[in-house]
Amino acid sequence: MNIKNAMAGRDLQALRAAVAGRVFVPGQACYDQARQAWNLAVDQRPAVVVEAGSAADVAQAVRYARARGMRIAPQGTGHGAEPLEPLDGAMLLRTTRMRKVRIDPAARTARAEAGAVWADVTVPAGQHGLAALAGTAANVGVTGYTLGGGLGWLARRYGLAANSVIAVKLVTPDGDLVRVDADREPDLFWAVRGGGGVGVVTALEMRLYPVRDLYAGDLFFPIQRAAEVLHAWRDWTATVPDEVTSIGHLLRFPPLPEVPEPLRGRAVAVVEAACLGDAGSGAELIGPLRRLGPERDTVAMIPAPALGQLNMDPGQPVPSQDDGAFLADFPAAAIDALVAAVGLDAGTPLASVEVRHLGGALARPAPGGGAQPSIDASYLLFAVGATPTPDLAAAVRAQVHAVKHALAPWHASYDYYNFEGTPAPASAVLPPASYRRLQQIKAAYDPDQVIISAHPAWPARP
Ligand SMILES: Cc1cc2nc3c(=O)[nH]c(=O)nc-3n(C[C@H](O)[C@H](O)[C@H](O)COP(=O)(O)OP(=O)(O)OC[C@H]3O[C@@H](n4cnc5c(N)ncnc54)[C@H](O)[C@@H]3O)c2cc1C
Repeated sequence: MNIKNAMAGRDLQALRAAVAGRVFVPGQACYDQARQAWNLAVDQRPAVVVEAGSAADVAQAVRYARARGMRIAPQGTGHGAEPLEPLDGAMLLRTTRMRKVRIDPAARTARAEAGAVWADVTVPAGQHGLAALAGTAANVGVTGYTLGGGLGWLARRYGLAANSVIAVKLVTPDGDLVRVDADREPDLFWAVRGGGGVGVVTALEMRLYPVRDLYAGDLFFPIQRAAEVLHAWRDWTATVPDEVTSIGHLLRFPPLPEVPEPLRGRAVAVVEAACLGDAGSGAELIGPLRRLGPERDTVAMIPAPALGQLNMDPGQPVPSQDDGAFLADFPAAAIDALVAAVGLDAGTPLASVEVRHLGGALARPAPGGGAQPSIDASYLLFAVGATPTPDLAAAVRAQVHAVKHALAPWHASYDYYNFEGTPAPASAVLPPASYRRLQQIKAAYDPDQVIISAHPAWPARP
């Protein structure tokens, strides 16, 4: 189909008349701004961008695209845009303006529109002494994060965010606005929770947990101590209860004024930890790490919404390349391989390489869970580097893959949906049984692959 013609003249007017939100096409002022993903390295060039203002807008936009044979890429922040296929000829359907959030303190639930970011939920939930299963970065989108699983600071105690979703409002690839839950359209409900995009979500309802504050923070060490610290952290993770979720992190801060003075331009090894409970029990749990003698220690009682700062993720959009891998284990040899790849002497351009401790609730099948019912891996690797120039992009991409490759002997059988930075198929980021069920659901609801997803599942053929 000739998309240029499709978007010309009266056709475009029809789309503009049908949606209350804004519509942009190439060549028009603001098109570049509207198509920009959070990850500035991604150059997505759709035939049209629709910034939906409501669920009704989303439904209209989907019907419009369907009628013209266009594929649809739903997107909130664009944090997860890196693995998407090229969007040429497609509609980029952005939910960025749909950020309303409602907290029900009595029922301990939140309802978030599809464009909400985690801070939109965690801050009002925190006012009621409740916490959501947010990720480490407050500016990541609730929807993309949750559709890909959602692994945050309370994960070892309460599991993946996807498995705490109780209902989803979405527009099916046919353009119908439906509310799906365990009883209504259970297949769609299952697929959305961890299996990525099967329709276009307009709102999510999720459980909240009674966590007003917790004992959490970071222990900083010079990068020279990376091996010692990671070995000690790994041994410690084998001893902690499900109430503790932690990350071993090697970070290189740029020499920029916005980086606080003690860290500006430095490389450090950090243990980040969140312990549910009071200061007394938390201090006891953290004790063995504290005895290593960190140069800086921020671990203290903090309100749950402040968890969004622990991992020191960038607060502003940056161009970057990343990738990750589930690890079946992270034994001494794996730590040594990681330090050889990104420690003091490695000369790596990567800004951040982290290993997250899994297990606990993540390892147990969530009752009534979705496409990622449990995680059969003990640790999770994630590596990222900033790519301000094309030259650096190639070097960073090579390094990200080198780090992943260095830990290949310990990879689990599939990768983590949300941390897979390449356009890998869903079969590479889901358990095999989930992938097969997702293919059946795709065949029933989206046989023409109308919805573009970071990790596509190809519809099962009869
Ligand atoms: C700094 C940073 C920190 C992160 N921390 C964590 C973390 O702690 N834990 C974790 O699990 N992940 C984490 N991630 C990964 C993150 O969860 C994924 O990148 C996720 O896809 C981001 O969701 P988004 O909505 O912000 O991004 P988007 O790029 O807007 O969305 C990603 C994908 O989700 C789908 N999607 C989005 N909105 C809709 C919709 N309305 N309907 C249907 N499908 C939709 C689409 O397939 C889209 O391509 C982090 C990423 C970054 C950049």
